[in-house]
Amino acid sequence: MKTINMTTPLVEMDGDEMTRVLWGLIKEKLILPYVDLKTEYYDLGLLNRNATKDQITVDAANATKRLGVAVKCATITPNRQRMEEYPELTEMWKSPNGTIRAILDGTAFRAPIVLPCIKPVVKNWEAPITIARHAYGDMYKAVDMATGEPGAATLTFRGESGAEKTLTVQTVDGPAVWQGQHNKDSSIRAFARSCFQYALSQKQDLWFSTKDTIAKVYDGAFKQIFEEEYEAGYKAEFEKQGLTYFYTLIDDAVARVIRSKGGFIWALKNYDGDVMSDMIAAAFGSLAMMTSVLVSPDGTMEFEASHGTVTRHYYRYLKGEKTSTNPMATIFAWTGALKRRGELDGLADLVRFGQRLEAASLETLESGVMTKDLLPLVEPGFQARGVDSEEFLDAIAARLS
Ligand code: NAP
Ligand code: MG
Repeated sequence: MKTINMTTPLVEMDGDEMTRVLWGLIKEKLILPYVDLKTEYYDLGLLNRNATKDQITVDAANATKRLGVAVKCATITPNRQRMEEYPELTEMWKSPNGTIRAILDGTAFRAPIVLPCIKPVVKNWEAPITIARHAYGDMYKAVDMATGEPGAATLTFRGESGAEKTLTVQTVDGPAVWQGQHNKDSSIRAFARSCFQYALSQKQDLWFSTKDTIAKVYDGAFKQIFEEEYEAGYKAEFEKQGLTYFYTLIDDAVARVIRSKGGFIWALKNYDGDVMSDMIAAAFGSLAMMTSVLVSPDGTMEFEASHGTVTRHYYRYLKGEKTSTNPMATIFAWTGALKRRGELDGLADLVRFGQRLEAASLETLESGVMTKDLLPLVEPGFQARGVDSEEFLDAIAARLS
């Protein structure tokens, strides 16, 4: 088969444990035989992050800003237990995803991979529902306290100009709990831009919901900023592509989502997104079938699987056992990145290759060949055979060629 050429490299971030093993196999069996792959390679494996004092993560994020597209393998976020497991670690390095998200000022979108033999719990969902969760502020950067006697609390803002604004929160007649939350216009605006960018790239409608009937100023600002961004920067393109931006109250959105056919992006505030993303993931099936894309306001995209490094399987692999680890989400991280690179560089062949690799992977599952984690999820009566990761990748490779 003829080799597909690339013009601009994409950023490749290698990672840890079982997903690092799959990473190598996916490249070797599914990509390198067909694509003249150009990447800037960054080894984000834990030991290299340690050796570079985590500079490698910062370099990889900056390279992503420069090149516009990245694909990332799952990585270990060290905790106390990992410090014992790897005595050479000089520090408990921060989550690479956190570092990358901060540098790219991005929003993470989580989308399930759907196929007919694994029906979502909600029967009328035919296409994936992608959740965009705002990743800054609200309850996650709040202060809270408990008080034990009757009294009153006030909220005061002191401007650098010296101007002050004070509100009474409540006067209480006994013990009470209190919380102070904030968000920033700049962060909400960046969130809105990432959502509109991603909806256009996926050619899907965008829904956004808050509780602005109750939190008139707070949630009202979210609604207002989304509206401003849409009108100023995205409305024309949405209309040209026949797409809709749809704002509704979160109660109404929940009811509509349950009755929908799916196939749209649902943007949510930080807490709502935290909760709803777990609900959607569980209803669609499995973490092993969930991809994640970090999108910055300028359209830079980093693709990855939503799951971790699958440590338990890795220890079995080290003992020489064959594991049945599901590579789907990592394959789709690669196809997402290749398709995006192809779109940005006008390489129709590369886009088509990404689509074919996705189709070959889905057809392999539909033919009944799958990793063992999926066996309990298939529809009753569907004939499926559980295989190990390499057999599964070989079956995809056979279909692809
Ligand atoms: P995990 O790696 O997602 O795995 C948890 C369990 O889920 C596995 O033991 C396995 O269950 C199942 N599973 C997940 N992905 C699977 C796949 N592709 N195929 C088959 N089964 C799969 O989560 P974790 O064990 O909590 O975390 C391990 C490491 O990953 C941690 O060091 C954490 O810091 C890191 N992590 C990284 C990221 C990231 O880079 N984005 C995200 C999350 C976690 P069974 O063992 O029952 O088969
Ligand atoms: Mg959650």
